[in-house]
Amino acid sequence: MIPVVRVAPEDATHHVRLTLTLPDGTVRQLTPAGFHIIGALEMVAARLGQDLVITSAMDGEHSGPEDPHPNGRAFDVRTHDHSDPKRVVELTQLYLGDAKFHAFLEDEGKPNEHMHCQLRHGIMYP
Ligand SMILES: [Zn+2]
Repeated sequence: MIPVVRVAPEDATHHVRLTLTLPDGTVRQLTPAGFHIIGALEMVAARLGQDLVITSAMDGEHSGPEDPHPNGRAFDVRTHDHSDPKRVVELTQLYLGDAKFHAFLEDEGKPNEHMHCQLRHGIMYP
């Protein structure tokens, strides 16, 4: 089996959104930065030989209007199913490139541990 990037199955508490409908009916979609992140994750999955599971896309609401999640510029990826979460982050940062993107481990060692990756604030992509 070829390792793939998957979206976490919908459950009662959480729905991973790859588009976002605003109150005025406008549909917001992933930006080129979002697609770049998915491309990098594909390469990381292949390198690790293990699937990567996206647990949050445009559904994240964490840090106000500049939050990269609802703007289609960030993903969260499950790490507690990997033996070496730091290696997942390291490889992701490698494939994303340092100049415009940033990946890091959130809530390390806790049940909510995940990798957050995003376009750096204030950076235009492409
Ligand atoms: Zn996040």
